Amino acid sequence: MLDRSLQSVLDDVTARSPHEPEFHQAAREVFESIGPAIRRHPEYLEAGILPRLCEPERQLIFRVPWTDDQGRVHVNRGFRVEFSSALGPYKGGLRFHPSVDLGIVKFLGFEQIFKNALTGLQIGGGKGGSDFDPKGRSDAEVMRFCQSFMTELSRHIGADTDVPAGDIGVGGREIGYMFGQYKRLTNRFEAGVLTGKGLAWGGSHVRTEATGYGLVFFLREMLEAAGTDLDGRRVVVSGSGNVAAYAIEKVHSLGGTVVACSDSSGYVVDEDGIDVALLREIKEVRRGRIHEYADARPSARFIDGGTIWDVPCQVALPCATQNELDAAGARTLIRNGVIAVAEGANMPCTPEAVDALHEAGIAFGPGKAANAGGVATSALEMQQNAARESWSFAHAETRLEEIMRSIHRRCLETAEECDSPGDYVLGANVAGFRRVADAMLDLGVV
Ligand code: GLU
Repeated sequence: MLDRSLQSVLDDVTARSPHEPEFHQAAREVFESIGPAIRRHPEYLEAGILPRLCEPERQLIFRVPWTDDQGRVHVNRGFRVEFSSALGPYKGGLRFHPSVDLGIVKFLGFEQIFKNALTGLQIGGGKGGSDFDPKGRSDAEVMRFCQSFMTELSRHIGADTDVPAGDIGVGGREIGYMFGQYKRLTNRFEAGVLTGKGLAWGGSHVRTEATGYGLVFFLREMLEAAGTDLDGRRVVVSGSGNVAAYAIEKVHSLGGTVVACSDSSGYVVDEDGIDVALLREIKEVRRGRIHEYADARPSARFIDGGTIWDVPCQVALPCATQNELDAAGARTLIRNGVIAVAEGANMPCTPEAVDALHEAGIAFGPGKAANAGGVATSALEMQQNAARESWSFAHAETRLEEIMRSIHRRCLETAEECDSPGDYVLGANVAGFRRVADAMLDLGVV
């Protein structure tokens, strides 16, 4: 239940931007957590922090025309929502997926504000993308699309203004095409304008691995706080993209076994443990479907459709997309003995799933905290670019580990302070909110 003042702000936010259910969901979750922070600090309400935080500083929507290999013209829609620059330049990824619309970009951008605040680094919140579907498109088509997208986006971004990166459908290939076009249009090798770059042209070691590795570092802390560890644990990871692949790799290196992963066509179960090299070959090189994994591995079987949450496990890491784990999935996990769930994707658990996990006393790590390693390493990439430096893999990974440990500590300490020990959702939202809100108080009504 929200108190009356918070409910009325949320009602206004919802009424002002109807037809954006994911944004409303993300805002409600934050509002439900921050009651204690607001009660102790009436100045947040007096300064209009919440209505200001819920209204993006700037929203860009633009046409992205491009030509396919047959010479046909296509028109997609491009977005960049510059949500909050209270703590630093707008920072957040670009998502290319047919489901992208303004509501999706706003939910992601809103989450990003608090996630980025939680890292303790100097980054504001933003997000962007397009309803372009890269699936089945040739490299040349993807390149022309990226160039057209960047032709417009380039006017709005900059190393001190807004720094995009990848998300679903945007990896090293797309960042390369976009950086190339930005460089050509501006006649500047402005390395800090994008993150997730290749190592040869300004990228950081560990950025590719960071979201998945960071997720498992966070999970390790969660398990340690519960008096246990990953050794010998049976783990299920949904998804099979960049986050999933490197989460699987890190689980294996810490002694757990990932027995299942998925894509939108179904999932594979491999009792011998998912072979990450094979998975990456299929997904990144061949850009194929998950059944090809089972075709190539005698120990694996492919399940067409269905839900990966039916696979019994002790740890579940949803790393695919929003709202992929609902109450029924959570109940199955609980029945099968899950002890921890941590979100690699953004908002993969529905509010009902989170409630079910909390009620059952399962350790639950929300994406804002658990998947913050990606954007944190982006901030380390910006730091290296600004100093024209390049750190070793070991150094960047140590920094990532320290950041995940400190995010975990911040969540737990804040939850404790708010009389909700062990509630990572509350801890993450309140700690993130306070850092942004305090900066906004200092900066005046802007
Ligand atoms: N898309 C990632 C996220 O959800 C990374 C953003 C970034 O590195 O800027 O946090």
